[in-house]
Amino acid sequence: MASKDKLVFGTAGIPNSSKRPPTTQDGIERIYELGLGCMEVEFVRGVNMSPESARDVGRLAAKRGLKLSAHAPYFINLNAKELEKMAASQDRIIQTARIAALFGGNSIVFHAAFYLKDEPAKVYATVKKNLEQIVAKLRAEGSRVWIRPEVMGRDSQFGTLEEILQLSLEVDGVAPALDFAHWHARTGKANSYDSFLAVLKKIESKLGRAALDNMHIHVSGIDYGPKGENKHLDLAESDFKYEELLRALKDYEVGGALICESPNLEKDALLLQHTYEKL
Ligand SMILES: [Zn+2]
Repeated sequence: MASKDKLVFGTAGIPNSSKRPPTTQDGIERIYELGLGCMEVEFVRGVNMSPESARDVGRLAAKRGLKLSAHAPYFINLNAKELEKMAASQDRIIQTARIAALFGGNSIVFHAAFYLKDEPAKVYATVKKNLEQIVAKLRAEGSRVWIRPEVMGRDSQFGTLEEILQLSLEVDGVAPALDFAHWHARTGKANSYDSFLAVLKKIESKLGRAALDNMHIHVSGIDYGPKGENKHLDLAESDFKYEELLRALKDYEVGGALICESPNLEKDALLLQHTYEKL
């Protein structure tokens, strides 16, 4: 029987129903009140937290028994043509990892790159080289934070399921951030129990069982077209078969964190958690 505690549920950023204007600590308190288990700290517009606050945030999360992760800034492209932009992209990932380590976060996620008309194989090699450099720098500082490039929702974005799993296989310290909504939007398929299970089996055969015990998952409703993702939606407004996903995660005893990225954040995070618990 699957253990109920293996997978924890939470929100991408501070819950909407937190005290206004909220601090990260208010968000953590709200996650705790709601009975959720984790929160992703959003640095999507910049890493704007001091080391001191990060330590405070970490102490509170530990007291409340919650798991934290971090989302790096959107302004990252590890396939940038200009050296400056490349250096800045590396730096944003490293800054995110440093702050996350201070608040006890064990994973950071980010959008790795754009293809910019380059051959996917060439982009893969460039991203891989950059990730090796990033991990080497962080390891030299003693950091053990998992570096997780995301499976992305648009054709223009680096990050197919295959690319992300291959990077995770080839670069020590890299693991997948599996956004099932993005993958559904990008493929126009991948939206049934069998296809979700096929993804999990692929992860297991490529990366081993340990990867499934320590997964980082994003879920939301999603609107999409021929080129993939248009925008995130609440689950009730979308065609995403979340119950079938949850069933696959439970049957396969997947562990780790599931972050809800629907606009209504905690409403769908709770829907996901409650649905999962009842399975
Ligand atoms: Zn993201």
